[in-house]
Amino acid sequence: VPLLPLDDARALLLDAVEPLPPVGVPLAAARGLVLAGDVVAAEAVPPFDNTAMDGWAVRAADTAGASEAEPVVLRVVGTQPAGIDRGLQVGPGEVVRIMTGAPFPDGADAVVMVERSVAAPADADGAEQVGLTAEVAPGQHRRHAGDDVAVGDRVLDAGTVLGPPALGVLASVGLAEAVVHPRPRVGVLSTGDELVPPGRPLLPGQIRDSNRVVLLAQLEADGFEAVDLGAAPDDEAAVERALLEAAGTCDALCTSGGVSMGDFDPVKVVLARLAPEARWLQIAIKPAKPFAFAVLDGGGGRRVPVLGLPGNPVSSLVSYVLLARPALRRLAGAPAGPTTLAAVAGEPLGRHPDGKVHYVRVRSAVVDGVRVVRGSGGQGSHQLSALAHADALAVVPDGDGIAAGAPVEVIELG
Ligand code: AMP
Ligand code: MG
Repeated sequence: VPLLPLDDARALLLDAVEPLPPVGVPLAAARGLVLAGDVVAAEAVPPFDNTAMDGWAVRAADTAGASEAEPVVLRVVGTQPAGIDRGLQVGPGEVVRIMTGAPFPDGADAVVMVERSVAAPADADGAEQVGLTAEVAPGQHRRHAGDDVAVGDRVLDAGTVLGPPALGVLASVGLAEAVVHPRPRVGVLSTGDELVPPGRPLLPGQIRDSNRVVLLAQLEADGFEAVDLGAAPDDEAAVERALLEAAGTCDALCTSGGVSMGDFDPVKVVLARLAPEARWLQIAIKPAKPFAFAVLDGGGGRRVPVLGLPGNPVSSLVSYVLLARPALRRLAGAPAGPTTLAAVAGEPLGRHPDGKVHYVRVRSAVVDGVRVVRGSGGQGSHQLSALAHADALAVVPDGDGIAAGAPVEVIELG
């Protein structure tokens, strides 16, 4: 079987996957989701002219000549707190005591901050007065309605990944919900007769099911909703049942194991039976050469991609990072990735030509502002501990490896 370049394999998956149909999601549940359309403001921010400082709303002209040595003394005609508009008026020779965020009173055109005022005795009629110790120009400390967002502004574009400040922008223009692609619900199924969950005794020939815990945790870390589908034996009927049932409630499925060349690899067989366009790929990468892919009918016209990852623990996660995660991100409406970052090899990343790109588990350090990577341990596809010590995969192209000090691209494991 000729090996498929990774980019071609990924393109094949991405072509078969569409962003999930948009839904309204309350802001508190929308972090990390992707806007399905542009957002146009129906409210101005701020909604009214207000003061940026605690202090005194004045007519700027009345502060002419004010100084520490010779304060200008003006009459206090009221107090304007934030949260209510008292409808106060500031006439010549008058001030209103005002709090940050409070509406600007009519007649005032500036604010003198409270730090630029001193107590002054009441006037002859017993009215309260204040001494201002600095001149202000018209407009000083005045925040104008709409000077963050005007009605009709496009505040966020379709495709924006909603981080905390973007959620704040939606809240500030009065939206309680964001119209987004929903968070994909992704089922995880382990396959293999040899698998035993942690916590149960191991009989001869059995191994621990570690892939499921890895994939469930990685999915959650990547912002997907992970659904534990348990483990199925190497039995076609059992795998088929598990996949069909899960397709009814999940947006995508990740399986591990059962896609290689062995006699008992049920996933590739079942997928080929369930979906005529199912693909069983041999990809030109190491680790994670085999991969199976199909789109199942989830009912109601829902197309549910199945990402058949290999069983070896390192292969399984590498395959997820290089192939499954991009497809799931596309479901979520997000850029598929993975993006590569520039680094420098801190030691030789040796290899021999074999027609494959190698993804080496590495650990990064920042030295003089440069990311320097070194192997994080044994590079066998069964050696999960090196992956646990890694923060990135170094992309080592086919050939004789990368010399110490040479540039290397890395993909963050995140
Ligand atoms: P397979 O792809 O099913 O041929 O499995 C390849 C290797 O990965 C075998 O050594 C399996 O025992 C191992 N393996 C498969 N599934 C898991 C799993 N869930 N956790 C840990 N190792 C696994
Ligand atoms: Mg197996």
